[in-house]
Amino acid sequence: MTASPLLVRFDDGDRTMADLLGGKGANLAEMTRMGLPVPHGFTITTQACREYLAKGQVPAELAALVTSAMADLETATGQTFGAGDDPLLVSVRSGARFSMPGMMDTILNVGLTDSSVQALAARGGERFAWDCYRRLVQMYGRTMLGAEAAHLDAAVADACAGAGVADPTALSVGRLMDLVTHQRQVLKEQTGHDLPQDPHDQLRRSVEAVFESWNSPRARLYRAHEGIPEDLGTAVNVVQMVYGNTGPRSGSGVCFTRDPATGSPVPYGDYLQNAQGEDVVNGSRQTVPLAALEALEPTAFDQLMSHLAGLERHYRDLCDVEFTIEDGALWILQTRVGKRSPAAAFVIAADLARHEVITMDEALARVDGHQLESLLHDQFDDQDGLPWVAAGLPASPGASVGEAVFDSDSAVSAAAEGRAVVLVRAETSAEDLPGILASCAVVTARGGLASHAAVVARGFGRTCVTGVEGMAVDEAARQAHLPSGVVIHQGDVLSVDGTTGKLYAGPLPIRPSSVAAALADPSDEAPDAVVARLVGSVRQILAQADSRARLKVLANAETGPQAAQARRLGAQGIGLCRTEHMLLGSRRHLVERVIVGDDRPGALLEIERIAVDELTQILRAMDGLPVVVRLLDPPLHEFLPDCEDLAVQAALEASAGRVDPGLRARLETARRWHQVNPMLGLRGVRLLTVLPELVDVHVRALVAATHGLRADGFDPRPEIMVPLVADPAELAAARTRIRQHLEVPGASGATVPMPIGVMVELPRAALRAGELARLADFFSFGTNDLTQTTWGMSRDDAQTSFLSAYRSSGLLERDPFESIDEEGVGELVQLAIERGRHTKADIGLGVCGEHAGDPGSIHFFARAGVDYVSCSPPRVVIARLEAGRAEVLGGRATTDDTR
Ligand code: ADP
Ligand code: MG
Ligand code: MG
Repeated sequence: MTASPLLVRFDDGDRTMADLLGGKGANLAEMTRMGLPVPHGFTITTQACREYLAKGQVPAELAALVTSAMADLETATGQTFGAGDDPLLVSVRSGARFSMPGMMDTILNVGLTDSSVQALAARGGERFAWDCYRRLVQMYGRTMLGAEAAHLDAAVADACAGAGVADPTALSVGRLMDLVTHQRQVLKEQTGHDLPQDPHDQLRRSVEAVFESWNSPRARLYRAHEGIPEDLGTAVNVVQMVYGNTGPRSGSGVCFTRDPATGSPVPYGDYLQNAQGEDVVNGSRQTVPLAALEALEPTAFDQLMSHLAGLERHYRDLCDVEFTIEDGALWILQTRVGKRSPAAAFVIAADLARHEVITMDEALARVDGHQLESLLHDQFDDQDGLPWVAAGLPASPGASVGEAVFDSDSAVSAAAEGRAVVLVRAETSAEDLPGILASCAVVTARGGLASHAAVVARGFGRTCVTGVEGMAVDEAARQAHLPSGVVIHQGDVLSVDGTTGKLYAGPLPIRPSSVAAALADPSDEAPDAVVARLVGSVRQILAQADSRARLKVLANAETGPQAAQARRLGAQGIGLCRTEHMLLGSRRHLVERVIVGDDRPGALLEIERIAVDELTQILRAMDGLPVVVRLLDPPLHEFLPDCEDLAVQAALEASAGRVDPGLRARLETARRWHQVNPMLGLRGVRLLTVLPELVDVHVRALVAATHGLRADGFDPRPEIMVPLVADPAELAAARTRIRQHLEVPGASGATVPMPIGVMVELPRAALRAGELARLADFFSFGTNDLTQTTWGMSRDDAQTSFLSAYRSSGLLERDPFESIDEEGVGELVQLAIERGRHTKADIGLGVCGEHAGDPGSIHFFARAGVDYVSCSPPRVVIARLEAGRAEVLGGRATTDDTR
């Protein structure tokens, strides 16, 4: 028989045909080929559905194809469809290319009519037959009625209440008959037609209804959310019914070939005696664990175990399976590669590779950075059912509980007393750094994923939620009003989930990440065997990633402990050390003194002393590995007092008849240096012409730290980079200035070679990369600023002001600060690489900036030919994993959605 593209029998299909047969149909055909006990059936294809949806009627040829396939089904089963002594019944099951659990309809027991129900009763008993009939009317009715199906549920609830039973399977035959009558009345009232009494008519209408369910509102919503194309359509599988509801020797189950939560290699599942279809998953009755099936039905159990092992070998992965036992005989009704927890993904991939079912490269391809990330931070043990009080952007993952405080000083003093605090601010600035460090979590009303709070919190591994819409922070009153009406006062306990962006009032139990602890400290013993296996699996896959990766992973760090942590996590150096971070908090006044000119030499000396100390620690922690130090790049306003604050103070003084000359001078300076647009103002390399001494100190400090460490027998590898360069002339001037300091010899008389690089973070720098390459040993792409300046969007407030609206209205698919904008910013990166290499073939190429820790962006940088990415220390392992995956997956998509 020649196969039609509209209808394919299970005997004629296989798993490669999922586009046409849908996932369920393709796997039913595959299992049929494998010789598994699958009931007979056929698939009406997605193409038939697409034609139906386009024309509003089933394709003309389909009726004859179905008639002939049904005739074959009757021959194969020896039964007659919906008639005779032993009526054949079928299920009509939706099944699209991509799994959409529960989104479309399935109708069981199609073919039952007022007369065939009698025949079925004669064969299997009245209770069984009428149980099937009420299920048919229920599912058929639900499919026809859509949202109005609640009326049918009410009929079932009434029947149960009337009989005093919890669940319709416990109804007597008489009550089941009454229920069917009642349900059919509802159906007639709501749709104008009764359950068709011609089985073929029932089948035809059921198939059309399942086609229609592709366009149900919930299915559309699900597809929009999951990014599944709208035009695929669903296949419809017509399957000979087997019955799990004939009595205690029958039942239905769902299971996995391994534990999908832990990855433990033992089949796992639930079974329910005397049950059909969804009973086992809808929670109406108590199921038993799969292991209990062994005692109930030993033969079927053994068969099932052997089929599960066979399926896993065949699919080379965890599978989930739906099965039914009818009077002791096992039937397999569905399989697919199963969903699993992030932990199970690692354990299963490593285990299958160890047993040589898959290669290590495949294992690496089967996990991803998002899964690893979720294993690395603390989580709330159980937040289900607990109401959250506000939600914002998930800016830095983790789970933290602490008392609310509303300013940095309170955070610091509470932390000094050993209390856990959550810093709640309208937004944060450099002044808040000590408070952020003292807190376990930061919550801001404004700001996006690249805002100050978000970047700093991620860098230091603090939980953070930004852009909590509608939250009004009243710092003076020490309280925050949430849109839900809840008011948070200083001292109130908050639970902050940085992974979901949700806030909870009160403490939630926390589960710390044992994986993070084990990766950061190999000597740390795992608390139990399950964790030990997980950690072993993660290590094994990371080792594979490292062996594959061409992209190196460096870290951003400003302190010795951060650098040490990064090294333990596998960082191959520091790609970005932000010198201005050494001057925040209580050291801020030093910069102000330099600017104001108030004991400038003393202040400079102090800044240099601090820098020598910090840089020595970092270089020592990264002994033998590169440490790229960026010259001072502060938005200057962050170091100066606020004009308005000072003006208010001065006015108060004046009205009290006092004059404070110091205050006047500070106000004047603040006014003189005030910039309307500081992020586009006096920053980066521009400082060199205005305040060169302030930049010099860090070069001198780096040279001194290097000499010191060399004298102590260390092998420091310092490099310098110049930020915010737009023009080669700027870089040339900076180089000349830097070199003067490099020529100063150390105690041994030797000078230190120090590569000098340039940050490419302005579009003009990317365009002038050919010239810049003459003057630079390496480029470091600062993709935060490059994104900000290419799009002309502020990274500090674009997310809260309009980006989320852009995304929800479909104007923008992804936040360009989160995931690199390949077509725009990415093209500038590629262009700069091309022009830079044209001048200097071996020019070093790095990326520092938030994108360096984003899985999708890492793949882009690997393709672009970058040498290294530099990300915050906690993201180093994620970047390592993705750097390896980038090579293994090549040009393929980063997420494999067919699995
Ligand atoms: P879903 O896609 O929502 O899982 P299914 O089409 O798999 O829907 O069917 C729903 C339930 O009915 C499942 O538990 C399935 O095992 C059961 N079922 C489907 N077809 C048959 C059949 N021919 N005989 C017995 N049970 C069936
Ligand atoms: Mg199913
Ligand atoms: Mg920058």
